[in-house]
Amino acid sequence: MKGTQPHRILVVDDDKAIRDSMSEFLQLSGYEPSMATSAEEALTFIQQQATDIIITDIMMDGMSGLELTRRVNQDHDIGVIVMTGYSDDYSYEEAISSGASDFVFKPIRFEELVLRIRRVLRERQLARERKEMLAKLETLAITDGLTRLYNSRYFYNQLKIETDRSSRYDHPLALMLLDIDFFKRYNDAYGHLEGDKVLIKIGKIIQSSLRKMDSAYRYGGEEFTIILPETSAEEAVSVAPRIQVGLKKTRFRPAGGKPVRITMSIGVTEYCPGESISTFVQRADRAMYVSKNNGRNRISSLFAKNCS
Ligand code: GH3
Ligand code: MG
Ligand code: MG
Repeated sequence: MKGTQPHRILVVDDDKAIRDSMSEFLQLSGYEPSMATSAEEALTFIQQQATDIIITDIMMDGMSGLELTRRVNQDHDIGVIVMTGYSDDYSYEEAISSGASDFVFKPIRFEELVLRIRRVLRERQLARERKEMLAKLETLAITDGLTRLYNSRYFYNQLKIETDRSSRYDHPLALMLLDIDFFKRYNDAYGHLEGDKVLIKIGKIIQSSLRKMDSAYRYGGEEFTIILPETSAEEAVSVAPRIQVGLKKTRFRPAGGKPVRITMSIGVTEYCPGESISTFVQRADRAMYVSKNNGRNRISSLFAKNCS
């Protein structure tokens, strides 16, 4: 195949004649073959060299080809084709249940082998694509489409995990809720699309203000949350100004308008072990409203009553 790397195939056989003929045939077929004389040698080889497929004999001194297949399946993502003689006692079922992708009889018919190699390669390619697709879908399911922050569904998911952890280990956990000030005015003045651009930009400012263990979410239309594990409310209050500084430096430039500054009101609270998630979130929300009521563009914190 032009432009792409030839597939790398490792042949494992203790019989030199077989290794030689396989090597020649695989090279002629456009593959990049390597040879190992034992299962042990094969295991060492695949630690060091990227390998797409292993074609292994079953009966060899030392580790058998079936045991090699099991080990490869445990620790590697490599297809295995098992070779055996008609007279040998090993069955197709045994090879497949060891994790082999396919099975060929000796003496090898090369035309058949090449078809099996192609099929195994194609199956593996499809499996990889399926895996990538699933990973993309998983990411989509937890991502807010506009800001690329996590979405509110994932917020509740993670908050449950973090509150459980906080209760179990008695570690502090802070929650921050942020709401854009007078955002309706901005939308009314410049339109919803321009408003969306603000949300995107604010998402970036929030994301770049996070510490490593913090995670940010678009909680509602123009509301954001940040979960801060291992963090007291006091420490969280000291994280918030990073966002405010980021906002202060940013000029939002709506089409058809002058550059504008935007501020946010922020509420911070700390988890009280054992309390419900909704009580926790509501307190962060109340703290945010304290900021609104005190003139906006500020940070306020509230603590649970009777929480030691
Ligand atoms: P306050 O300072 O009290 O928060 O004032 P506000 O105008 O931000 O608050 P209010 O709750 O009255 O309005 C929120 C506005 O946010 C209403 C809506 O126009 C806007 N908004 C909510 N979600 C979105 C969105 O996804 N895109 C855009 N462009 N605007 C949104
Ligand atoms: Mg709001
Ligand atoms: Mg608002």
